[in-house]
Amino acid sequence: MEQTTPVAPLLQVRTVDIEYRTHQRRVRATHDVSFDVWPGDRFILLGPSGCGKSSLLKAAGGFLTPRSGDITLDGVTIRGPGPERMMVFQEFDQLPPWKTVLENVMFPLLASRKADKAGARERALHFLNKVGLAGFADAMPHTLSGGMKQRVAIARALAMKPRILLMDEPFAALDALTRRTMQEELLTLWHEEHFTLLFVTHSIEEALVVGSRILVLSPHPGRVRAELNCHQYSHNDFGSAEFQHAARHIHHLLFPAALPADGHHQTQERVYVPATLHSS
Ligand code: ADP
Ligand code: MG
Repeated sequence: MEQTTPVAPLLQVRTVDIEYRTHQRRVRATHDVSFDVWPGDRFILLGPSGCGKSSLLKAAGGFLTPRSGDITLDGVTIRGPGPERMMVFQEFDQLPPWKTVLENVMFPLLASRKADKAGARERALHFLNKVGLAGFADAMPHTLSGGMKQRVAIARALAMKPRILLMDEPFAALDALTRRTMQEELLTLWHEEHFTLLFVTHSIEEALVVGSRILVLSPHPGRVRAELNCHQYSHNDFGSAEFQHAARHIHHLLFPAALPADGHHQTQERVYVPATLHSS
């Protein structure tokens, strides 16, 4: 496969603070978070529940505005939702239940006027085929399993050919075997369709397997604790000493109480490698 070195990050997150204000109090969700997502990355936001992963993804999606800092896509500040940033959520109810599977996948293409009806249908069927659901085009969402619903949501997002695919713990509510299958399918799709992925998880193993890079966030409010490369790991490495070592290292980053109490948890560790486009 041809390899191109991109000249600039696709998504740039710069010193982002996210805050929620209710009438009673302010909740700081993230503090001073910066990272770059390059074209073709499978970039993971990893951290404990409540550290602001979903908030960061929503900010990248344009659904909320950081209190300070800046998020740019192709150098342009994100100011609202857009069809070049498609989201897949954890919940199985993200498909309107009154539309068939095919209509669900066609809908954003038609709503954004990216395609006419025939074009939308063709592209939707292509992506349903990609996720193994060509035979379920006329099914209603409630007749599908959780994993199948997530496949439809993925097909719907990828059919839009977004600049970046945003996924918020998309497999967290699935049983372990289905989760593993879905992770493998997502990686196969990534190899075939060459998209850029920003993926949220609280699972160290999922981060190592799905990601090419991992941003490790500290607990509430989320700050960057480390950025690591992990493109070398797959499901086949689960038992290997190297994989276990990487998982343990991340565990220590996430739970610094396990480290000597000398302030190590204040340090940030960044491991950068030159990004390449769709290296495989
Ligand atoms: P994560 O996805 O990592 O679990 P979130 O981004 O959902 O974390 O939440 C980060 C923090 O912001 C948490 O303390 C959460 O309670 C708070 N929070 C999230 N959404 C809201 C909201 N709509 N209003 C007030 N606080 C919120
Ligand atoms: Mg979340």
